[in-house]
Order: sequence, then C-alpha cells, then structure tokens
Amino acid sequence: MTNVLIVEDEDQIADFIARGLKGEGWTTTRAASGEQALDLLADNIFDVVLLDIMLPGMSGHDVCARMRLKKNYTPVLMLTALDETDDKVAGLKKGADDYLPKPFDFDELIARIAALVRREADYHAPKGPQTEDDIRFDADALCLVVSGERVELSSKERDFMAMLIKNAGRVLSRERILNAVWGLNEDPMTNTVDVYVRRLREKLGPHSDRIATVRGIGYRYM
Ligand code: CA
Repeated sequence: MTNVLIVEDEDQIADFIARGLKGEGWTTTRAASGEQALDLLADNIFDVVLLDIMLPGMSGHDVCARMRLKKNYTPVLMLTALDETDDKVAGLKKGADDYLPKPFDFDELIARIAALVRREADYHAPKGPQTEDDIRFDADALCLVVSGERVELSSKERDFMAMLIKNAGRVLSRERILNAVWGLNEDPMTNTVDVYVRRLREKLGPHSDRIATVRGIGYRYM
C-alpha cells in the first residue's frame, strides 16, 4: 500500500490532501514541521514525501537536502505557493524529484504521486540472476533487456511494462492499467491498452506470449 508522508504546516491543506489520498486507498502520515518530518523519516519507510516549501523553521528545501545527505532517497514531490522558476530549480538541485505549484488540481497531484511511486518501483525491482529468457529493466539506460538485447521503450510502454512485471501472475483489468499508466483523464472506452499490448508483444519478440490475454477482463504477465 502506498504510504505518503505529508509535510505541511497548514492544517486545512494537510487535511484536504490526506482526505483525497485516503480516497485513493493510500495511507498518509502528517508532519507539521521539517524537524518532525525528519524524525518520522528516520524511523519509517514512506513511498513518497509531499513536501511544502514554506514551513516554520526549517524550509522544505532544507528538509530535502538533509534527507539526501542522510542517504534517504524516498521520492520527494515539492509543493509550493511560489510559482517561480528559481524556486523549482532550487528544489530540484536540493534533490527533489518533482515540483507542483499551489493551488494544484487534485487529479494532477494524484498523477504525480503515482508516477513517482511507479518510477521508484521500476528502479528498485529485484534484478535477479540473468538467464537466457530473462526480461528485465536496465534502470540506468531506462530500457528493457530481453534475452540480453536492449529494447527501447517509450515512456508509456515502460510504465505499462513495469506494471505488468510488478504484478506478474496477477490479472490486471484494462481499467486498472489505464488508470495507472495513463491517468484518470483517459477515456475508459479507448482501446489504448490493447494497442500498447500489441506493441509490447512485438518488442518482446519470441517472449510475446508472456503477456497473456484474459478474455473479457484484461491481461496477465507470466
Ligand atoms: Ca506552508
């Protein structure tokens, strides 16, 4: 389950975000200051940190810099009322992974968090010993390695493939795939998922049957 640390001093905003994330089935923990956030980060594992920049005492930038100094690489999404390029650059330099200006659209927030969680899952997926029929991600080159051959993927193909691999053996419905990879704004009647399955199967070559069709529901990766 996705566990999000919300670092925000304003109760109203923190409550609003927490309610929305709970609605997505995610767990949230709240810190009202940078110091409190660092304490929580020292003892707990979070999937994503939502970090407000304007905090009393230590700023969001400082919190992020401290995290990275302590080799804590939990993805950080910076939230700020200051919609300025300088601020964004400063945040990214301090090790933030993404940046969202307030006020933000809730769907946008959900999509950004989901993207960070996915990216993290791809990079840290156990690679295991390499075998002849191995299909794995090369995290550095951001490509798929199929039987030792590098296969380039578009970003959506990569997200989709990562989701399949992560859920190997499980049936994934078209709706679930669509929501996770393309976001909530995609037309649910679209055949995008099927189109991408066709593309991925082509790229998997002799291993194309690893993506099995589950009639009337969706797909299963094996
Ligand atoms: Ca604030």
